[in-house]
Amino acid sequence: MTDKRFLQDGFDKQLGHLIEEMGEVGAAAGKTLRWGPLSTNPLLPPNEREANITWLWREMHDLQHVLNRLALTMQADFPVECTDIPLRTGVSEY
Ligand SMILES: [Mg+2]
Repeated sequence: MTDKRFLQDGFDKQLGHLIEEMGEVGAAAGKTLRWGPLSTNPLLPPNEREANITWLWREMHDLQHVLNRLALTMQADFPVECTDIPLRTGVSEY
């Protein structure tokens, strides 16, 4: 999860964060498919290992929050262009 201290406001920064988190979801999804949902990264210290499916779930959580923040910003910055398709934006811990 992104540390609150490093969250940035504004469309460009939030769109960049979305791209970053999509990449992290992609990495976790790729490892999950290649090595299996319950496999762990053997290069990590034992106390830092987590199952690929747990990693994927955590990254999906990150992505959901970043997507929610960006959606709110887009609705505020581009209210006319971003009103036709409703997005779920109510869930956020940030
Ligand atoms: Mg992440």
